[in-house]
Amino acid sequence: MVPLGSLEQHGPHLPLDTDTRIAAAVAARACAGRAGVGLAPPVPFGASGEHADFPGTLSVGTAALTTFLVELGRHASLHWPAMLLVNGHGGNAAAIAGALRQLRAEGRECHVWHAGLPGSDAHAGRMETSVMLALAPGDVLTAAAAAGDTRPLAEIMPELRARGVRAVSPNGVLGDPSGASAEEGETLLGLLADGLTAALDTLLAAFSLATAGCRARWGNRRARASRRGCPGRGTGARRDLRRTRAARSS
Ligand SMILES: [Zn+2]
Repeated sequence: MVPLGSLEQHGPHLPLDTDTRIAAAVAARACAGRAGVGLAPPVPFGASGEHADFPGTLSVGTAALTTFLVELGRHASLHWPAMLLVNGHGGNAAAIAGALRQLRAEGRECHVWHAGLPGSDAHAGRMETSVMLALAPGDVLTAAAAAGDTRPLAEIMPELRARGVRAVSPNGVLGDPSGASAEEGETLLGLLADGLTAALDTLLAAFSLATAGCRARWGNRRARASRRGCPGRGTGARRDLRRTRAARSS
């Protein structure tokens, strides 16, 4: 599991790495106590070109992020049966889609889960402010919190894409942080973790089915091989192990 974030302005009141912290926190909750699931450190930079007008934003852009994710997925597939990206920033979606297309065309297992809740505001509004109040209240400048553009994201998206966030919201907020609370943030974190856990359950169930299928197929192949008097798979590994033991004892 690899959390993906961004480093971009989150209005005057939230930290630049809000998306990264949320993705990492949700991933940590979903991974806790799960055997066979490894949690990678979060990727701190994303594609945040739409926030470029605001100081503090650092973006690597869609092309670089796509290449990064493809290379990460190729390497992950050497040691893990699948990579699950936990995305905390909407602007990363195009890079993720491109990387997944490439990795799947190469026969590698790569999946994504986007950290979002239906009906919540888009950026530095009530949802993200509540979650950050739950995660790190000392890092939220509550007195500086102010509403930005509260229109639905779909409505402002064309202008946002063409001219950036500053053009639609001078303070960088898309939504309204009013009413945000740590208690609400804890509830939202629980809902997000439940969503990711469900996605993880589905993925693990698919893999245990696939592994069972491999075992069944392999069992048949091994039976046929032994009937033919051929060594089965694993013989080489056992031979190597014996050689290693002999080398150690010599
Ligand atoms: Zn955010």
